[in-house]
Parts: sequence; C-alpha cells; structure tokens
Amino acid sequence: MRWSAGDRGNIQDMRGRSGGGGMVPLGIGGVIVVALLSMFTGVNFFDILGGGSAAPDSAAVGTSGSGGVKASPAEERMVDMVDAVARDAQQTWAENLGNRYQPTKVVLFRDAIQSACGYAGSATGPFYCPGDRKVYLDLGFFDELQRRFGASGDFAQAYVLAHEIGHHVQTLLGTEGQMRQAQRADPGSANSMSVRLELQADCYAGVWGHDASKAGRAAAGGVELDPGDLEEALNAAAAIGDDRLQKLGTGRVMPEKFTHGSSEQRRTWFKRGFDTGDPRTCDTFR
Ligand SMILES: [Zn+2]
Repeated sequence: MRWSAGDRGNIQDMRGRSGGGGMVPLGIGGVIVVALLSMFTGVNFFDILGGGSAAPDSAAVGTSGSGGVKASPAEERMVDMVDAVARDAQQTWAENLGNRYQPTKVVLFRDAIQSACGYAGSATGPFYCPGDRKVYLDLGFFDELQRRFGASGDFAQAYVLAHEIGHHVQTLLGTEGQMRQAQRADPGSANSMSVRLELQADCYAGVWGHDASKAGRAAAGGVELDPGDLEEALNAAAAIGDDRLQKLGTGRVMPEKFTHGSSEQRRTWFKRGFDTGDPRTCDTFR
C-alpha cells in the first residue's frame, strides 16, 4: 500500500494522556464497561479479548500531554499511516454522501481510555463510539492482528480502520440507530442484527478499498493499493470472523452466538464493496 504522510489532521493523539498517568486498572468495573461497550457498539470485545479480563499495564512510561509521547520511529510511521488511511477513507465517504458526511477522528491511545461509551482498555481492540462519533485505536492492536490472528500487512490494518469508519457512516445515516431500535423491539434478533451491521461495515470498508485500488492515487497524495493488498484485507476479514475466533477461544463454533459474521461472510461482504465501489450494494439488512 502506498501513501504519504500528512498533517495528522484526522488523528486525536491521546497516547501521552491515556494509560499510565493515574488511570484505574480495568478490573471488574472495566470488564462490565467492556460488556456495555459490546452492547452499545455491536463489537463483541470479549471475542476479541478471547474471554479474558484486561488489566492495562500500569507500568506505562509516564508522559504528559499529547505531544510528549515516547514512540519509536516505526510507531510514528504507523500514526502517519493511520492518518493517511483515515483521510483517504473519509474522502471516499464525503464523495459518496455529500453534505450528509461529517468528519470523524481516530483517537489514538495507550493502555486505556475514557470514551463517551465508557472506559476501555487496549484489549478491547479498535472500536467506534456512536456517543462521541469517534474511532478509538491502540496501535498495539496491529501487532496483535499479526501475531495472534495471523493477519499481516498494512492493508490488513487499513481494513480494520476502514471498518470502524464504516460504523461512523452507519451512525451518520441512522442505520445504527434503527438497528438498536429493532434490537430493543425484538431482543431475540440482537445477534443477527449485530451481524448485519458488522458485515455492512465490512462492505463499506471494501467500498473505500475500491477507490484505493485505482491507479494514480498515490501520485495525487492519496492511498493506493499494491498488488497483493486485496489478499491482505481478505485474509484479515477471515481471521477475525466469529467462527475463527470462537474456535480460537473455545474450540467450538456456535453460529447462534455470532455477532460479526463468519470468516466467509466477512470476506464476501468486503469483496462485494471492493468490487462494486457502491455503498448501495452493502444492504445486509434486506
Ligand atoms: Zn465492527
């Protein structure tokens, strides 16, 4: 994937303020928050967690202010990449939605963070909070994605980010709100509704991928895919499918407990968005 560093205007850098500096470890309260987050956002954080509780590493280096983080050059490069992807993906959505689109930011944090959706630890994985309309990401997740889920490559990382921005689009379009309402009306449908929302976010990620696959983008300062990048995203989509995660966590596959969709479904919907580039083909609710 080719991209160029910008002004980080799509980033809210909380790496220096989150984590270490006097924050409370996640503990049992945090576990409850994670459960609530899972309910609010439809992201099953416990699946990502693999069922464990997550106490953030309180021995984090004490740093102050968002500017004063100690980070390796590799991490700084990753921040630039996240900014470039967020900028590019949001441009796609601004083009698709016109004035219905409102920009979001990616909040970078370390160890733990307070969002409008509650207190979250790194182990929750990246998430979108409809309450403050922001994407939350601990860069450590990208290592996790590679080591634990075997999904490597920068476009695998970009897919995860584009998926979260897809949730932002769902919030702007009211899809997310309608789905919550439907879930309240029929609690028995909660999981299958969640799967539809998640697969649509995958398809939306693909819609951006479609744009990013066009030639000449890098030269114009945008993100441009290299050969093999699509495979990275498809591999990542499959790696975090519910069946794969369940097998990893419990050794069993329980389709009735799916919240995000199977590996095959996630691949399929990402690919659909990627092939068409048209958000209207992402109607997973029909
Ligand atoms: Zn999601």
